[in-house]
Amino acid sequence: MIKFENVSKAYDESKVVKNLSFNINKGEFCVLIGPSGCGKSTILKMINRLVEPTEGTITIEGKNVRDFKPEILRRRIGYVIQNIGLFPHLSVKENISVVPKLLKWDKNRIDERVSELMQLMGMQESLFLNKHPSELSGGQAQRIGVARALAADPDIVLMDEPFGALDPITKSGLQNEILRLQRKVQKTVVFVTHDIDEAVKLADRIAVMNEGRLVAYDRPESILNNKENEFIKKFVGFDRALKKLTRMYVEDFIKPYQSVKISDSSEFIKRKLESEIFVWVLDDNGNLKGWLNNDDSTDLAEHIESLIVKNIENFQVSPDCSLKDALSVMMSENVVTLPVVDNGRLIGEIRLSDIVGNEKNS
Ligand code: ADP
Ligand code: MG
Repeated sequence: MIKFENVSKAYDESKVVKNLSFNINKGEFCVLIGPSGCGKSTILKMINRLVEPTEGTITIEGKNVRDFKPEILRRRIGYVIQNIGLFPHLSVKENISVVPKLLKWDKNRIDERVSELMQLMGMQESLFLNKHPSELSGGQAQRIGVARALAADPDIVLMDEPFGALDPITKSGLQNEILRLQRKVQKTVVFVTHDIDEAVKLADRIAVMNEGRLVAYDRPESILNNKENEFIKKFVGFDRALKKLTRMYVEDFIKPYQSVKISDSSEFIKRKLESEIFVWVLDDNGNLKGWLNNDDSTDLAEHIESLIVKNIENFQVSPDCSLKDALSVMMSENVVTLPVVDNGRLIGEIRLSDIVGNEKNS
């Protein structure tokens, strides 16, 4: 069991972890969750003494971590660093072997262990052992990061947002592997994330942190159903709302649009713009070329071409794009309406207000 008793950490005057007391049972999967900067990484690092608490004590199986010899701590505690953190100049094999080498294992034992771990991670030795981290995909590198943490068969594994940078499919695959692995090898895992769905999927117990304090420590069901704590409700709710957008698609929210053709007369275009804030501009084949803003209409006569806002590729979304991605485009381009384009042709538009209101086009 890992036990935190009144643990605080201060940098200069400011306390970043405040009077933390909680236990992580042996063999349990504990997930620390909370907004960026709330102290999650600091808590992990106090377990393996990369950071020393300012106050309080941390014990492992009743023994103060300060009283462990460093090499014992290293063997008993695996650590998967935020942003993977493989050593770039070392090969895959050398990366996995770091701790066993520090522990002075003999070469055969290290080779055997590396083989075992590659098998566990579902990676073919002949393909990967001599590669360097820069030659791996995100998912492969992350697997090696996990293998490295497990190399000396630690009782405890600390994982700091290990899957944060991965695409959803790779992420989900690795989550499943970690779950399977933990059931099989019964490690005590302390896992940091800011993703509530990941926490619910993996955790036996979730510790919700806010501004250095433990707000709740409970089973996932209880955290999801917490109705009393405003922070938890907000944190779970906001994340859930964003998540929901990843499973909703632009095609269900497409709205009719106003457009003109490049070949239309400037009189016609002017009239059209009188009642619109902007219009999309198409060529004669219905392909989207850009848009015209209504404040441009005064001197439209000669030079429609030059007034069209053109770098339309940055703005357009396809019908199968998720609402979350559409929302990111709006945020990054600072617009509230996007053209929906299918094979170059404008088929409608999508608006921020419809995304926020979840207003479908049915
Ligand atoms: P999280 O992992 O939850 O994003 P951290 O534990 O990394 O948060 O950091 C908690 C707070 O402590 C942050 O405000 C961060 O800026 C601060 N902090 C972390 N490490 C240091 C340090 N070495 N010196 C000063 N402040 C730090
Ligand atoms: Mg962190």
